[in-house]
Order: sequence, then C-alpha cells, then structure tokens
Amino acid sequence: MTAILLKGASIVYDTYTGKQLCNLNVYIEDGLIQEITEKSTGFKSDYVVECNKKAVLPGLANTHTHLAMTLFRGLADDLPLREWLEKRIWPLERKLKREHALVASKLGLIELVKAGVTAFADNYFFEDALVEATKSVGLRALVCPPIFDGEFEEHTLSHVSNLVLSQRCDALVKWGFGPHSIYSCKKETLEQIGALSKEHEIRVTIHLAETRWSQVLCEKSFGKRETDLLEECGLLSPRTLASHAVWVTKQEIRKLANYEVSVSFCPVSNMKLAEGGVAPVPELLKEGVRVSFGTDGAASNNSLSVLETIKIGLLLIKHSRWDPTLLKPHEALLIATKNGYEALGFPKHALQTGNAADVITLDLRTPSVICHRSVPLPNRIVYAPVATVDVIVSGKPIMINGKILTIDEEEAKQEFTKALEDF
Ligand SMILES: [Zn+2]
Repeated sequence: MTAILLKGASIVYDTYTGKQLCNLNVYIEDGLIQEITEKSTGFKSDYVVECNKKAVLPGLANTHTHLAMTLFRGLADDLPLREWLEKRIWPLERKLKREHALVASKLGLIELVKAGVTAFADNYFFEDALVEATKSVGLRALVCPPIFDGEFEEHTLSHVSNLVLSQRCDALVKWGFGPHSIYSCKKETLEQIGALSKEHEIRVTIHLAETRWSQVLCEKSFGKRETDLLEECGLLSPRTLASHAVWVTKQEIRKLANYEVSVSFCPVSNMKLAEGGVAPVPELLKEGVRVSFGTDGAASNNSLSVLETIKIGLLLIKHSRWDPTLLKPHEALLIATKNGYEALGFPKHALQTGNAADVITLDLRTPSVICHRSVPLPNRIVYAPVATVDVIVSGKPIMINGKILTIDEEEAKQEFTKALEDF
C-alpha cells in the first residue's frame, strides 16, 4: 500500500470535532491515517505532498446524484419537475446505452474529485458501467440501480434484485436498491423491496416528498403521507437514504428520526425545479435525523459540487426563515462529511489516528478564501469558492497537486464530448 506524507499542512481541520490545528504532518499508510504530528518522524513515504498554504479535511460526501446525467447537463433547463422528467429526461434516457453511461460517469467522477468529494450515492441506469468507472477512478460509492414499475424494462424489481443480490460489496463500492419514488413504483413493489432490504441488509435510496404534487398524489391514492406509506412497506429503517424530503410534516419528521432514516438535502435541485418548499432541515436536525447534502444529477443542478450546494443550502435556510444564525458553516461541514459517510455506510474518516484516510486538501491561496486570520476555516471555504488540490481515498492518491493520477482526464473528456453527439 502507498505511504503518503501530507507535509507541513498550514491548517488541519477535523470536521467531526471542529478542531482546527496549524502546521502539522499527516502520515497515511495501509488505507488509514497513521499519525498527525508536528515533528517529522522516520516515516518512509512514496509520496510527499507539500501542504504549505493548504487545508487538510476529511473528504466530502455527495449523498444524492445520478452521475451519468452529466450527458444531459443543460438539455432540460428551466422546466418544472414533471415536464422536465416526462418530456425531456425520459425520452433522452431511452437513447442511453452502456457506453454512454461509462464515459458520462467518468466525467462525473472527475468533477466530483475536483470538488473534493470522496464518496457518493448513485441511482441511475447502467450501474455496472458506473461501478467500472468508479473503480478506475478510486472513489467510494453506494450504487443503487433504480427500480420502476412500467417505465423501463431493465429496471423492474426482478431485474434489479437479481443484479444487486449477485454483486459483492467491498470497502469502496456497495450495492443497494433504488426504487425511484412512490409514484413510479407500485405499493407491492415497495413492500417487496422493504422485505429484501431487511432480509439481505441492503441499503435503499428513494426520492421522498420531493414535490407537493407527489405528496398530494400519495394522499389521493393511499389516503396517507409518503413517509407513512414507506413505513407500511417496511422501507423506513437505518438502511434507508431518502432524498429531498421537502414536503414533510412534523409527524413525518419524527417518524424519519424514530426509524433512523437518513435524508439527503438537495437545495439546488429543489430550487432549480422551483419546487416551492424548503426542506425543514433545522427541524430534521433537531429531531436527530441524519441529514447530509446531495447535488442531484447534472441535469437538475447543474453542478456536482457539494461545497456549492452547502453554500446555497445554508443561504436558503437562513433566508426563508428570516434567521441568519441558523445552520453555521462548521455544522454544514460536519453533516457533509460525518453524516454523509454514515448515510452511505462508509467508515469513520475523522482526522484522527486509525481512521480511514479519505482526505482532501484545499488551496488556501484561492483568492476568495484569503481572509483575516480570525475567520474560521469553515466560514472561509463554505461562503466562497475554494479549489481542491489533493484527494486521497482509502489511502490511495487519486489527485495530487491538481492532477488526477488514476485515469487520463483528457482522454475521458474527449470520449465524453464524442458521446454527446448521440443525443
Ligand atoms: Zn434525484
């Protein structure tokens, strides 16, 4: 295993504890953080990464995306969700082939790496291609092939469960079920997924209460709220990661908390599709729900940057509540790292000896983050753009000094540009 020394880091910021320390060396070997110390030890390293004027942090988690949608970025802007989905996205998706998904996932992965994301949840077509791309780049992923009733033949429950149950999860890639939503799956299908998830201890991602329309439809069809329907189908558990949760009541929030369901907050996607409501993040957090951040796919954001989503999410919460004291940058970074990793089922990556070495460095010379020394690091990097310089996942160097080492970035961009011509 590669041994890496992050040498002389100007700032080491542990998002888990909020501790900010200066001028330290971080030693990484066997996939773990071995030591964080002021002095140089006899540690032999394959890579010495100079970290003067860099901040070292745990990697960010993007807990809701559809990575291969990078192909459709910009092709369905400025439309409401149903029109966006039914008139633009689904017809495009019918033309999607495995080779498209492979190159589109690679581009998405490059974007994630450059945004300091070390782990993500994906829910899209041709997930085997996504896994191939993810393994070549080296990030962690929770991969949940979508399940529909009626829309897509390859994505019925029987197809997806055969695929998921035949896959092996490893330290970097885990497989789960991705029932799209309550409105695109029958109740019996949701019940079967609930039973399979429990029996095989498999994670589930689902779009929950994304729009007021889907809640109204659920009440009309079943006489109950979406969260109550999921409970009835056995789909509320610590294995469930629900995306959006914009239109949830206090009673639903308590239920999500009681069942230890994780929620992915996707403010940019919600605002771009003009869904009207704002996910009740302060209440979700207060009740103890594990909230994290998701960008959603590139066709509804259009960026995969978690830091950008954090900024917009914090501003949205503050603005809509007339309360600038709500959700501070250090809390946002805690939930974007610790909560995100827990929601995806990945190991603790706090910057402490013995934890998973999923580490990023950020460039403190980025003009927008050069501030007075009294400004805490979280405020500097959350409220203004910052460049990611190095990315290490499970002790493996993925990007060093801005250069991705695991795949050929230029080649991936060329292949992607070519694939765009097919749509
Ligand atoms: Zn989504």
